[in-house]
Amino acid sequence: MNFKNFPLVSKVVFGRGSLGQLSEILEPKRKNEKAPFIYLIDDVFEKNHNILSNISLSYDDYIIFISSEFEPKTSQVDDLVENIILKTKSLPSGIIGIGGGTLMDLSKAVSLMLTNNGSSEDYQGWDLIKNPAVYHVGIPTISGTGAEVSRTTVLNGSKMKLGINSDFTPFDQVILDPELTNGVSKDQWFYTGMDCFIHCVESLNGNFINTFSKSYGEMAYELCKDVFINDMTVSEMQNKLMMASWHGGMSIAFSQVGIVHALSYGLSYVLGIKHGLGNCIVFNQLDKFYFDDIRLFRKMMKKHDIILPVEICKNISQEQLDEMIDISFKLDLLWENAIGDNWRNLITRDYVKSLYKKM
Ligand code: NAD
Ligand code: ZN
Repeated sequence: MNFKNFPLVSKVVFGRGSLGQLSEILEPKRKNEKAPFIYLIDDVFEKNHNILSNISLSYDDYIIFISSEFEPKTSQVDDLVENIILKTKSLPSGIIGIGGGTLMDLSKAVSLMLTNNGSSEDYQGWDLIKNPAVYHVGIPTISGTGAEVSRTTVLNGSKMKLGINSDFTPFDQVILDPELTNGVSKDQWFYTGMDCFIHCVESLNGNFINTFSKSYGEMAYELCKDVFINDMTVSEMQNKLMMASWHGGMSIAFSQVGIVHALSYGLSYVLGIKHGLGNCIVFNQLDKFYFDDIRLFRKMMKKHDIILPVEICKNISQEQLDEMIDISFKLDLLWENAIGDNWRNLITRDYVKSLYKKM
């Protein structure tokens, strides 16, 4: 038996308003005057004084605003790294990502690729990264993905949507400030929050479950249930969902996700449907696998007036459908976790096709 020996986020601060401590957290990490801190920030905050006023730029520090309209791509990471190398006199002191899962993943990937040669596409997979990343800080502004705590950065490459999973991927520092989630639209709040709920359902019901994952998964599951079913103040909801996201991420670190993620990776790669929404669309068709949790999920949708898009696969071509199935079937570990070692004998292409057709 070979037990996994995972690194965790080294430092974390939690609290409403904790973003105010950013400068004092960063300053000891500055290597020299020529080695800047580079902030990758979701462009939704381009005019957000509450957030930007906490960022003090000195020496050669600068901000790059990035749209999260599309999920991160390997080519986008490579371009960012090239631009940073061209513009910056020496290796940056740190990369600070501010935003949702998209910005968390981009900043993890950029910090890794600043110290590892070649294209980020060469490193999609497990433990291919050779050198430690540049110091990197994650500051989530929407809760659910667990990207702030995970050991992966999920990128769309030329052939695959796949993470760079490595011991060097987790953030060196995370700032959990639930106030930063003010302003998230209701639908997006729900979809990204459901990513967390689905991480728990897939982890807790999977074959890879163990006491480590179960304890985190149960905590996150209960927090999600509380947030999406019960009534409470906005601050309470924000605080609880931020911790649910963290625990949900911790739960899958030592287990795995399952069918929902396997199918939603196909939707995302071929149709560009974003992770949280894609997961909800897929989950809604999997009564056969997660009956009780799907009833709970529908109750949550009803309470928050969420209406999922329908017939998204109605007019897609046979080639697109095949490509979605290929992407999904490459994710062996996810299927093994959900169905078992012999999943290839139990899940046929026709069955998966029929599921996609219902979405
Ligand atoms: P996102 O980062 O794409 O953001 C969704 C939307 O919310 C965007 O329009 C963004 O501008 C907006 N937004 C974010 N914070 C806001 C705020 N405070 N106020 C107003 N608007 C705000 O969405 P997400 O669901 O957090 O992340 C999805 C990505 O995360 C996908 O690319 C997925 O692959 C990745 N992911 C990664 C992991 C991991 O472990 N690395 C896990 C799950 C998902
Ligand atoms: Zn997810």
